[in-house]
Amino acid sequence: MKQYDLLSLQRLNAPYAQQLKEAAARVIDSGWYLRGAETEAFEQEMASYLGVEYVVGVANGLDALRLILMAYIELGRLQPGDEVIVPANTFIASVLAITDCGLIPRFVEPSATTHNIDTTIIEQAITPRTRAIMVVHLYGRACWDDVLTKTAHRHNLLIVEDNAQALGAYADNGQHTGTLGDAAGTSFYPGKNLGALGDAGMVTTHDKELAQMVRALGNYGGNRRYVYEHKGLNSRIDEMQAAMLRVKLRYIDNENARRSELAHLYNSLIDNKHITLPQLPTKPNTHVWHQYVVRTPYRDAFMQYMHENGIATGIHYPIPPHKQEAYKAYNSLSLPVTEHLAHEVVSLPIAPYFSEQDIEYIAQVINGFETE
Ligand SMILES: *Cc1c(COP(=O)(O)O)cnc(C)c1O
Repeated sequence: MKQYDLLSLQRLNAPYAQQLKEAAARVIDSGWYLRGAETEAFEQEMASYLGVEYVVGVANGLDALRLILMAYIELGRLQPGDEVIVPANTFIASVLAITDCGLIPRFVEPSATTHNIDTTIIEQAITPRTRAIMVVHLYGRACWDDVLTKTAHRHNLLIVEDNAQALGAYADNGQHTGTLGDAAGTSFYPGKNLGALGDAGMVTTHDKELAQMVRALGNYGGNRRYVYEHKGLNSRIDEMQAAMLRVKLRYIDNENARRSELAHLYNSLIDNKHITLPQLPTKPNTHVWHQYVVRTPYRDAFMQYMHENGIATGIHYPIPPHKQEAYKAYNSLSLPVTEHLAHEVVSLPIAPYFSEQDIEYIAQVINGFETE
């Protein structure tokens, strides 16, 4: 029987192994491991790839989001106690960034078709204390429309993008995610579409003042040695990860295009009345398929059946942030769309290294799933 992991990082990186080893050797031999030539080159190459003014490499995606919010607080554009709108249906890190900075999350329900925040109901959640909206391009699907930007504009709200899952995606307006809002945080966790070989992240923005503040805050709070204007963190990308990412950045568009082909193939081949397929985007490249997520009310049985057939599946995510023990104060909130999705979503294997035959095989297994 064929066996399929949800994701094999080894297979993902195998095509680049030689180049990655050469880049690693370059860093080792340089004797320079932080804040050096690789980081600078990575930031420049990424800025020109995305079409954004400033890129600041940081330690991981959660720090990228925290540093953005911390920087806005240092700059006086946010204050602890201010409210930040955030999708209820997201990975917990989006919310951790908010609460870690002493800000208050205001959870907004997703659209059940896109799984992204329902931009048409953001306005209802706005109070006099609301100062920002965090949008998450969940599963790689760009979340950006006129309702969002007009609502933000009308209420003078900052927009922070959580771009952890969507590097390389475009919004309908033709601009890359990560360049759309006031600032964006991206993760290069190894399993993300552009993955490092360890932890890494970045902040992207067109705002020079913000970029400088993020860079200072990520370097203990100052950019001059032993002179600190702010109370910062140690959160920098390292030279090794910057070098790894420079290799992989050259292939991200190919990899995302391949993911999209495979997702379309899944949608054309899966035909089972118990399985609801993800909605395909109307414009190409507005979804980079970090995850391919179906829904079924028979999730336990379906996952067990897939497992018995050698195919791993995942759940992104089984418990929404407001139902986590870490957020007891929000446990009593009722967010039915989010909770319903959390009960039904299943992620299927998707990665650029799959062949058409792999997808055909997995789809055929799915089509054989029955329940009483
Ligand atoms: C991965 C992820 C993060 C956090 O990134 P790390 O690099 O793991 O800290 C934040 N938000 C979302 C939506 C993510 O998927």
